[in-house]
Amino acid sequence: MKKRSLTACLSAAALAAFALALISPGGTAPAAAQTKDQRTIVIDPGHGGLDVGAKGKFGALEKSITLAISFKLKALIEQNLACRVVLTRDKDIDVSLESRAALANNNDAALFISIHTNGSFRKKAQGSETFFMSLNASDEETRKLAYMENSSAALEQRIAEEDKDVVKMILWDMAQAAYIKQSSRLAELIQQELSSDPLLKTENRGIKQAPFKVLTGVACPAVLVEAAFISNPEEEQRLIKDEFQTNVALAIYNGLAKFVKLTGQK
Ligand SMILES: [Zn+2]
Repeated sequence: MKKRSLTACLSAAALAAFALALISPGGTAPAAAQTKDQRTIVIDPGHGGLDVGAKGKFGALEKSITLAISFKLKALIEQNLACRVVLTRDKDIDVSLESRAALANNNDAALFISIHTNGSFRKKAQGSETFFMSLNASDEETRKLAYMENSSAALEQRIAEEDKDVVKMILWDMAQAAYIKQSSRLAELIQQELSSDPLLKTENRGIKQAPFKVLTGVACPAVLVEAAFISNPEEEQRLIKDEFQTNVALAIYNGLAKFVKLTGQK
């Protein structure tokens, strides 16, 4: 299926930027112009419900932080781009990895961003990294991370479901394969913003490839962002702060907006 371009987001974003330029200092920004053929950006707050994700030493849960960052990112996109935003979950509930990808495809998503916080047995591991899909992991550490992110309470049930519908899963795997180049560009732009943001000051772990299940079936450019390490007590303390979450959302937004601009110009 031929995907429409992101031009609709861009043209309306340009309109919004123009409208913003007209606002006197201290004024309120108008909502971005709504267009009939508005594109959809799907934001996926990692984990949820019984699947708490990675856990911090001080008790912070990945599932709560990913949801908070996702809400902030949604608001930023809606304020500045004329794209509709759909969250794969907007509360603390279980959502299977397949359902997250299906939601993106059913909404004819233009972009898919999965938000996570990292976990490692190495307490000192720190920084941000952005992934795009590959059937093979970049290295051993990445392979372990993908295994961890792919595991959840419903894993066994999902495997059983997949066995029943092998053909469908193969088609879905191919879906993301067609977008690898664009996904890699999107990952690059987001990671650039995450690593150069003076307010975030997180180590740049770069862009990587891994066989993340949540990405394989998505039929549009798709990335998975690991904002920082919740398993590192120092980064856990930062991750729970509203200001840090806002800056992560802003950095992701800036990378995404650059991608929309580049894609729209094609
Ligand atoms: Zn995660």
